[in-house]
Amino acid sequence: MTRFYNYLGLDAENLTSVRCFVCRGTSTRPVGLDNGFQIVRCNECSMVYVNPRPSPAQLREFYEKYYEPEDIVPEAWEREMGGVFEQHADWVHEYAGKPGKVLDVGSSFGHFLRGMEQRGWSAVGIEPSSIAAEHSRRIVKGRIHTGGFEEIDLEPESFDAVVSLYVVEHVHEPREFMEKVFEVLKPGGQAIIRIPFTRPFFPVYRMLKRPLMFAPMHLNDFPPRAMRRLGLDLGFKRVDFRIGRPRKASDTLEKVGAVVLGGVGRAIEGVTGGSRVFPYVGALSYRLYK
Ligand SMILES: [Zn+2]
Repeated sequence: MTRFYNYLGLDAENLTSVRCFVCRGTSTRPVGLDNGFQIVRCNECSMVYVNPRPSPAQLREFYEKYYEPEDIVPEAWEREMGGVFEQHADWVHEYAGKPGKVLDVGSSFGHFLRGMEQRGWSAVGIEPSSIAAEHSRRIVKGRIHTGGFEEIDLEPESFDAVVSLYVVEHVHEPREFMEKVFEVLKPGGQAIIRIPFTRPFFPVYRMLKRPLMFAPMHLNDFPPRAMRRLGLDLGFKRVDFRIGRPRKASDTLEKVGAVVLGGVGRAIEGVTGGSRVFPYVGALSYRLYK
């Protein structure tokens, strides 16, 4: 099995306590323990998060070394994620109706942005891993910033679309992240945020003695109603979601789950026109319209 990430280097020490990122509440109940990190669920809005958690500085150091410095990694990453990138590029393009300017936050090796440039868009990426950012510069014409989203200066209301795939689950302050997404989007623009939703699987994972949400890599687990509440609260006009194509898992259980449960989820989405959420799909793409 190819190892994409370097898991080492984050211990449950010197952690920071946080409030719920959606409702700002502090009333929570514990729902699990992952690698020594406490996972809680907000009693007010159902948001699930790791608390206390590593600080932004600890996370920055961790993600600079996130990808293994091996040549095979970008290709392996594209094999796993290529379908997800293509589908999201199609969604962005279809909704916009014409090419515009897109920002990919956590642009990894640049494959999604390359797909957007092939569709005529102008592309900007932000990526904390310098190995991944460097690779992107070879395949993307647009500018790739190395660093964290919060530290890069971007002009307000300058993007037609902001996309962030499998990133928000990793960030220390997801509310500030989403505020900045809103800020850099043009009115009428769209954001697509794809993140795992693992809470419904906790009982099964607990039984199988698997990690619940891969803390401390993953810190935030948004149920649909929590993401909807956050989005509307920040000023987005509408928040909906799509189940979308799963990433190609190398883990057998994940693979079977993605096919069977994802199939059921997509069927329900089709029948109900997306008004009903089947929670056992592993990940959701939230679409927020400014
Ligand atoms: Zn809350």
